[in-house]
Amino acid sequence: MIADRFGRRFRKLRVSLTAACNYACTYCVPDGRRLVAARDELSAAAMLRAIEMLVDVAGIEALRFTGGEPLLSEKLGPLLEGASTLGLRDLSLTTNGQLLARKLPLLLGAGIKRINVSLDTLDASSFRLIARGGDLLSVLLGLDQARLAGIDIKINMVPMRGQNLNQVLPMLEFCLEQGFELRLIELMRMGHLASQRDVLARQFVSQQELLDLIGQRYAFTPEETPSGSTAARYRINSQGFFGIIANESSPFCSGCDRLRLSSSGWLHGCLSSGHKHYLGDLLDRPLSEAKGPLRQLLGKALADKQEVAFTGSRLIMKAVGG
Ligand code: SAM
Repeated sequence: MIADRFGRRFRKLRVSLTAACNYACTYCVPDGRRLVAARDELSAAAMLRAIEMLVDVAGIEALRFTGGEPLLSEKLGPLLEGASTLGLRDLSLTTNGQLLARKLPLLLGAGIKRINVSLDTLDASSFRLIARGGDLLSVLLGLDQARLAGIDIKINMVPMRGQNLNQVLPMLEFCLEQGFELRLIELMRMGHLASQRDVLARQFVSQQELLDLIGQRYAFTPEETPSGSTAARYRINSQGFFGIIANESSPFCSGCDRLRLSSSGWLHGCLSSGHKHYLGDLLDRPLSEAKGPLRQLLGKALADKQEVAFTGSRLIMKAVGG
C-alpha cells in the first residue's frame, strides 16, 4: 500500500454520487442557488469500476456515499448493489434525509446498517433559512422510519452563531431520546467561507464553547478516540454519546486516512488542498495496465494532505463529497 512519511495511507473512501443537491445550505453554497449535476459525471458502471480499483490498489476498507445529495442520484441503487459485494468492512451513506423515507427500502435491501443525516436545527423557520430547500418534517419522518428499521444513525449538525447555536441543546436532547449520536461539526473554511473571513469569524463556534454549553445541562466524560477518527466522542452517563468534529480547534490531519472521489472522476487527497487528480482516464484499462498510473495518482493525492492542520480551501464540499 502507498503510505507517506507519517505512516498515513488511504483506508476510507468517500464517493460523491452527484454534485446535485436539493438544499443550498448557507455554509456550502454561496448564493443560495440549488446545485445541479456536473455535465461530465461518471456513470454508475464507471464509478463502480473506480471503487473496485481503489479497493484493490489503495487498500480502501470503508466506503461512504455522499454528494451533493446521494439520494437524488439514480446511480445509488446499482452502486449500493455493486459495492456490497466488495467485502468492505463498512458501507455507509451521508444524506440530508429529505428523501430518506422514500429510499429506505433501497438502503435496507443493500444491507446498509448505518447512515449520517445532516440536520442543523429542529426549528422549521431556521431550517428554511439554513437549508434553503426541502422541509423539516420530511427529514423527521425519514429519521423515524430509519430508526424503526434498526439503522444506526448519526446526526451531523454545523452550529453557527446567530443561526442555530440555540438549537444545540434541543438537538442533543432529541438525539439522546431517539438513540441517535449527535456530531457537531465546527464550521470549516471552505468554498465561499475561505474568502469570507468576516462571516466565518462571526458564525464560528469552537469545540470549547460547545463543551461549555453542553456542560450547562449534561455531565459528560470523554471517550477514547480510535485512530483515523475525526470526532472527539463524549459519553453522557447512560443516556448516550455525542461527538465534536473540531477541524479548527483540534485538527486531525496527522491521522487522516480519507480519500475522496468526485462525481466527475477526480481524486482529492485533502479537503484543504486545491489539487485534484483525474482517475477517469484509467477506468477502461485492464487493472494490470492501470495499476502503475493509479499508484502515481494516489501518491500525489497522499502528498496533498496537510501535515498538521486544516488550512482552508476554496473547494465546495458538495463537489468533492462532504
Ligand atoms: N447532502 C448530503 C448531506 O447533506 O449530508 C451530503 C453532502 S454534505 C456536503 C456533507 C456534510 O458536509 C454535511 O454534513 C455538511 O454539514 C458538511 N459541510 C458542508 N460544508 C461545510 C462547512 N463549510 N463547514 C462544515 N461542514 C460543512
